[in-house]
Amino acid sequence: MPDVIVYFGPLELAALLAGLGLLAALAGAAWQERAARRRWQALLDGLPYPALLFAGSRPAQANSAGAAWRTHLEVQAVAGEARRTGRTILRTIPAVEGQAFQVRAVRLARAETLVMLEDLTAAGRQQAFYRNFIQNVSHELKTPLTVIQGHAAQLSERGAADPHAWSASLRIIADEAKRLTQLVDNLLTLARLESPAFTLERAAVNLAGLLEEAVLQVSDLAEARGLALSLDMTPGLPRLNLDRPRLKQVVLNLLDNALKYTPAGGAVTVSARLEAGQVLVAVQDTGEGIPADDLPFIFEKLYRARRTRGRPVEGSGLGLTIAQQIARAHGGELTVQSELGRGTTFTLSLPAAP
Ligand code: ADP
Repeated sequence: MPDVIVYFGPLELAALLAGLGLLAALAGAAWQERAARRRWQALLDGLPYPALLFAGSRPAQANSAGAAWRTHLEVQAVAGEARRTGRTILRTIPAVEGQAFQVRAVRLARAETLVMLEDLTAAGRQQAFYRNFIQNVSHELKTPLTVIQGHAAQLSERGAADPHAWSASLRIIADEAKRLTQLVDNLLTLARLESPAFTLERAAVNLAGLLEEAVLQVSDLAEARGLALSLDMTPGLPRLNLDRPRLKQVVLNLLDNALKYTPAGGAVTVSARLEAGQVLVAVQDTGEGIPADDLPFIFEKLYRARRTRGRPVEGSGLGLTIAQQIARAHGGELTVQSELGRGTTFTLSLPAAP
């Protein structure tokens, strides 16, 4: 076998070093490219709306909501226009079933274009919701104010000539002022609960003691309304890490509703039990029940179910919204079951070991 002599001189060494250098530069560039892709992906994933990054004319990356728009021709056209002109392009494009999206394409460095989509229908819905909310709140505030104005005018016109009418007007004014205060208190509580700075003040709480206190607090009212009130707890309920005043507010609100919407002769029962790692507190009544059509909405702000019979019942439609927010802040949930004419059960579930 002939010997093979490989000549390896300074020229070859230089070529080898240059090759290695090139490889290292290529590997470095690939690594930088991957790092940049990861940074972009994290940014896109953090955006709360559909977003895509175009490299040239090609959609290179997207967040999960944006992925569905990769092949959308108008989105590609807007991205292309931003790339060609170097300007930020803003355009509204129709989407499925009456929805509309606003597309914003921003030309970046290195022929990259960032495309973001805003769901105009959702934004419009939110605006409509707040307009409606403000209208409803204004209406709720205006009604007692009108009554107060009317009776105050009567008091000043007639003076104390008719003592009976005088004291009736004073009572109505006091009642309406109380209603206004309750409404404003509820609105302030809701604003506090919805503020990003809101935190629970948790401590170890004996739930049995809290429920006993709440039931005792409304027992006179239940008796005055001719309702049987009882408390039924399984022994050995764990101590829970709760914001005690807020949790008590939830239970009192459910009790207050049960007493309001149950005619005399009915019964209201509070029970608590441990089930599958959750503590379930139920407030059950044998009252008028809630129409099935209204059930999905009763936790919404200012929503009050239609009442087909019975005397008008005072309320603002904010109590359940507040109760649900407090339940969720604790990692729990408030649910309802109701049958018209037979009664309603609200169940508050709380994690046994939060
Ligand atoms: P409100 O101040 O009107 O009681 P809530 O937010 O506490 O407001 O309740 C919303 C609506 O849910 C009430 O207006 C009522 O129609 C219905 N509701 C709540 N609890 C009961 C109940 N225990 N029985 C029947 N209807 C209820």
